[in-house]
Amino acid sequence: MTSSPQPPVSLSPSRAGDFMQCPLLYRFRVIDRLPEKPSPAATRGTLVHAVLERLFDDPAAERTAPKARAMVPGQWARLLEARPELAALFEDDADGERLARWLREAEELVERWFTLEDPTLLEPAERELFVEAELDSGLRLRGVIDRVDVAPTGDVRIVDYKTGKAPRPEYGDSALFQMTFYALVVWRLKGVLPRRLQLVYLGSGDVVTYDPVMADLRRVERKLLALWDAIRRATETGDWRPRPTKLCGWCDHQAFCPEFGGTPPVYPLPVQSTGPGQNGPGPAMS
Ligand code: SF4
Repeated sequence: MTSSPQPPVSLSPSRAGDFMQCPLLYRFRVIDRLPEKPSPAATRGTLVHAVLERLFDDPAAERTAPKARAMVPGQWARLLEARPELAALFEDDADGERLARWLREAEELVERWFTLEDPTLLEPAERELFVEAELDSGLRLRGVIDRVDVAPTGDVRIVDYKTGKAPRPEYGDSALFQMTFYALVVWRLKGVLPRRLQLVYLGSGDVVTYDPVMADLRRVERKLLALWDAIRRATETGDWRPRPTKLCGWCDHQAFCPEFGGTPPVYPLPVQSTGPGQNGPGPAMS
């Protein structure tokens, strides 16, 4: 049963990224909750994350590359059991060749991780950690951190696995934004400034690290408050603008997007009229 549309009450790095990419995409995902087709790349990411998480259930000495590789088919079966709709990804794959290639790619990504980190030397404090914290303004931030390591000195490292390739430096901001977002949440929850943010790119075999300072957290907090303000305004006025970019090629909602000749569904939330002197879709007051 699907619940009726509600105004957004919290922000995660992915949804913040959606709004920055295209406000209308944010509306389709968060308010209309339009269904999206599962993608092979995103599902492979989920599968690889599951293997890297579960591997730490075993004693340190048994966390080997062949063992992790061998876990891939079993974790795929678990994923399918939890989300049967994923079977649609391979329903036209009569001879199983595409599925076999896709599983092989997942195994290669898992194997590459061992060239970047050594799980026999790691004892994560947390894995797949759901975090939620409230800012002074009342804005709730939430998300899932792939791994948290805590050194004997108490230093905290936040680790995120990416199954894609490391972006060129000029495009690396969104990943760093996500990590600083998590650093802010950890700071709010525990009063600890994470010593290091670490992005592990399994697609290209790169590890990118950043040691944040308080000014980074304050900057990301200001940015999130401004974003939330814009989201709140759009929620109230129903004014969600499309922002076309080359990323539209990956958008599942072109059929509803005016940029592609479509019409969005009827806006499901009450629209507040804007008062005199306020910005909004109403007539300007002199
Ligand atoms: S197709 Fe592009 S502009 Fe339209 S909703 Fe999707 S991301 Fe936004």
